[in-house]
Amino acid sequence: MAYEREAAILKVTSEVLGAAREFLVCEGFVELLPVILAPVTDPLRHNTDRAIIQAYGERWHLTRSMIFHKQAAVRVCDKIFSFSPNIRLEPPERGQTGRHLFEFVQLDLEVRNATRDDVMDLGERLLLHIMEKVRERCRKELEFLGRKLPSFRAPFPRITYTEARHRYGEDFEERLSAEMETPIWIVDFPIEVREFYDREDPTRPGVLLDMDLLYPQGYGEALSGGEREHRQDRILSRIKFQGLDPEAYASLLSLAGEGIPPSAGFGIGIERLVRFLAGLRHVAETRLFPRVPGVPAVL
Ligand code: AMP
Ligand code: MG
Repeated sequence: MAYEREAAILKVTSEVLGAAREFLVCEGFVELLPVILAPVTDPLRHNTDRAIIQAYGERWHLTRSMIFHKQAAVRVCDKIFSFSPNIRLEPPERGQTGRHLFEFVQLDLEVRNATRDDVMDLGERLLLHIMEKVRERCRKELEFLGRKLPSFRAPFPRITYTEARHRYGEDFEERLSAEMETPIWIVDFPIEVREFYDREDPTRPGVLLDMDLLYPQGYGEALSGGEREHRQDRILSRIKFQGLDPEAYASLLSLAGEGIPPSAGFGIGIERLVRFLAGLRHVAETRLFPRVPGVPAVL
């Protein structure tokens, strides 16, 4: 049958979206429609170019993540999520990693007054729920794709960034992911390697209360998140610490001046999740109209 593989992958994707939504709504989350254009977006220290358009005499960033919108939204509702399309102009060589698109979707969520432990627990339960539902609802498709989904139990193991680097070297992420039989958390990134909105541990200066989750079997990073910095003076000093221009974040700083609640959250990439669940070589296979860095699009 034509397109049988594509159809199987779309079915898995559709069940992932449904299972995630039903889990989060059941947990008391409210879904926010995504923001595509904004005066300010995630600074992201990775090597990605910005996409900007001009309209109405203003510059608009295409969203790289909804981090600041999430921090603002938890003023209104205590638990929010969004399926958020992100544009990140990754360098063309990342087209071959199997993990990078320049347009992808994150399930981005945030919880007012939550700790990192709270959202790590939530992330584990969310992933296990999605896996259970996909196993149940996509039996035929997984069989067709030749994917035997492994089973895991929470809590997943944790390792600190420092320990992971010490034990596995520069490419610790790849090596850990390849070696693991279950997902693993990396916690406590040093302040120099992450974004200014990640909250510094008040008891351990220079250490952030953030985390990444890695998939096992070499599928790499699943999600990133942590507790957020919400105090205006601290946001300003972290912006300066990173050598960024505070003027560019004036709207965020003014919002923080009015008051943003403490929160924690994470963003999990949908295409990478489907790649892992369906056992695919490249995230491009998860989209009918993939945007692969350096590769022309058909439609
Ligand atoms: P980040 O905040 O940069 O960690 O992004 C959140 C999540 O989005 C990551 O953990 C990945 O699952 C996913 N992601 C990030 N960049 C890309 C990309 N270029 N292509 C596909 N998924 C991505
Ligand atoms: Mg990340």
